[in-house]
Amino acid sequence: MIELKQLTKTYGDKKKKTTALSGLNLSVGKGEIFGVIGHSGAGKSTLIRCINLLERPTEGEVWVGGVELTRLGKRELQEKRRKIGMIFQHFNLLSSATVFDNIAFPLTLIHTPKQEIEKKVNDLLELVGLQEHGSKYPAQLSGGQKQRVGIARALASDPDVLLCDEATSALDPQTTDSILKLLLDINRRFNLTIMLITHEMHVIQSICDRVAVIHAGGIVEEGPVTEVFLKP
Ligand code: ADP
Ligand code: ADP
Repeated sequence: MIELKQLTKTYGDKKKKTTALSGLNLSVGKGEIFGVIGHSGAGKSTLIRCINLLERPTEGEVWVGGVELTRLGKRELQEKRRKIGMIFQHFNLLSSATVFDNIAFPLTLIHTPKQEIEKKVNDLLELVGLQEHGSKYPAQLSGGQKQRVGIARALASDPDVLLCDEATSALDPQTTDSILKLLLDINRRFNLTIMLITHEMHVIQSICDRVAVIHAGGIVEEGPVTEVFLKP
């Protein structure tokens, strides 16, 4: 579902160049929960931002659902990006919009009929357990509830993959567990492919099927979670 081939990303110019990713290869199968773990500065956020081309790779190929994103024109890329959901550490909600409107946002962008939006958003509110909170504003919600809104918004366009950028790093341990459980439920229910980056081992161990360890812009180890972390 996600295939990265010889992905390289450098920042800066000739004078001061930082190589964030260097010739990285990675493959995530349909329905998998794939985790990437690494220390600060290892290249995790560059990696995840390259998958939806929020960041343009300097070299290499990004494939999602059999399509090479790095070859698409602007319009086709826009279309394809809608099928790549993303959630963030700091939620990135619109503070002046209600929970309902935040979730509806990706649908209003593509002029979805009002009735359809209504049905979809209500289903999503129920899915993430916020059916009582649709008319609230983000400031009235707890961190965990805000992330549930983030998840619902990401699912609104029926994505092929969900990318999670340190999605639980701003949450306390108990809330983290409830969000991870929700992600697992969604994965099982829709067979949705999930890729997450984190610096927390606990996150990897609690929901990931496979894991890659990233260091200095490259994958240094990869495999099923039980094999990578339980070696003698
Ligand atoms: P992580 O998410 O694992 O902390 P990042 O992908 O943020 O790692 O960073 C990888 C490397 O790229 C680091 O050396 C970082 O300083 C550098 N880097 C990240 N973003 C930029 C940027 N916009 N401009 C210059 N250097 C950057
Ligand atoms: P319903 O059965 O009423 O459609 P669900 O609670 O089963 O409601 O699902 C909530 C919403 O999640 C649905 O509108 C569904 O289309 C949507 N959804 C979000 N992501 C996906 C996905 N990747 N695959 C299928 N459906 C998805």
